[in-house]
Amino acid sequence: MITYPFAYQRAANLAEAEALLGANPEAKLLAGGQTLIPTMKQRLASPPLLIDISGLHELSGNRRDGERLVLGAALTHAEVAQSPEVRTLIPALAELASHIGDPAVRHLGTLGGSVANNDPAADYPAAVLGLNASVITTRREVPADKFFTGMFETMLAPDEILRAVAFPVPRRAAYAKFANPASRYAMVGVFVAQTTEGVRVAVTGAAPSVRRLPMMEKALEASFTPEAVAHIKIDADGMNEDLHGSAQYRAHLVTVMAKRAVAAALA
Ligand SMILES: Cc1cc2nc3c(=O)[nH]c(=O)nc-3n(C[C@H](O)[C@H](O)[C@H](O)COP(=O)(O)OP(=O)(O)OC[C@H]3O[C@@H](n4cnc5c(N)ncnc54)[C@H](O)[C@@H]3O)c2cc1C
Repeated sequence: MITYPFAYQRAANLAEAEALLGANPEAKLLAGGQTLIPTMKQRLASPPLLIDISGLHELSGNRRDGERLVLGAALTHAEVAQSPEVRTLIPALAELASHIGDPAVRHLGTLGGSVANNDPAADYPAAVLGLNASVITTRREVPADKFFTGMFETMLAPDEILRAVAFPVPRRAAYAKFANPASRYAMVGVFVAQTTEGVRVAVTGAAPSVRRLPMMEKALEASFTPEAVAHIKIDADGMNEDLHGSAQYRAHLVTVMAKRAVAAALA
C-alpha cells in the first residue's frame, strides 16, 4: 500500500502559524478542511505539514469599523449565516453563507478558507468582489478588485495568512445562485450591491475566476431594476464548460441570476 505521510501541528497563535509557514514552504494551512482534506484524499495535494489555524482567536469574531463590518477569517459559514451583526447590516451575506454546501460543510468551512482558495464556483468571492470588500492579511490590506487573480489563485503569498475580510455596508444587496444540485456550488451566482460609490455586480461559477460585469453595473446605475439587465446578453466566450452545463447555458444563466438578484435586493 502506498502511504503519503504528513505532519500535523496546531498553531497556538497567529505568530506561530506564520513562523511555521515561513519555515516550511510546502506546508499548508488547515482551516475547516472542507477543500484541503478532499484534495489530499484525491492525491491532488500532498503537503508535508498541515498547520491547523482553526479556532485561533486572532482570526475569529467580527467588529464594526466605521462603515465596514470586519469578519474574522476563521468564522464558519454557519456563524456568518447566524451572526446578528451580519444579518442586520449585510443580510445578503448571511443569506449567501446559509446556502453554501450542506450543514456539515457550513459548520466546518470558513470564510478565510473559501476566499483564500478562490474556487471558480465558490460563493464568497462574489460577495467580496460585489461589495468591494478588502482582504486583510498578516501583512497588508488588499482591495477585492486586486485580490482574485485567476482560477484558485489570489494575491496571497505562500507564507501570508488571511486574517479577516472588511465588508463595506451597502445600501442594498442580494445574491442569486443557480446551485449545482449535488454539491450546492454555484453553476452561476450573481452578487449585486448598491453602495454609496455606485452599483457593483460580480459573478462566480461562470468563468475561471470571479469577475465583475461592467455592462450590468452601468445599466443598473441608470436604473436599478431587473428590467435594466434583462436585455443584456453575456458572451459565452471564455465561460466554464463541463458535464453540468455548456458555456452558452452559463452565459444565459448570468442574465437570469442578475435579474433575480436585483429583484431580491429591491424586495
Ligand atoms: C460537499 C461540499 C460542498 C461544498 N459546497 C460549497 C458551496 O456550495 N459553495 C461554496 O462556496 N463552497 C462550497 N464548498 C467549499 C467549502 O465552502 C469550503 O469550506 C471552503 O471552500 C474552504 O474553506 P475551509 O475553511 O474548509 O478551508 P481549508 O479546506 O482548510 O483550506 C482551503 C485552502 O485555503 C487555505 N487557507 C485556509 N485558511 C486560510 C487563511 N486564513 N489564510 C490563507 N490561506 C488559508 C488552505 O491552506 C487551503 O489551501 C463545499 C465543500 C464541500 C466538501
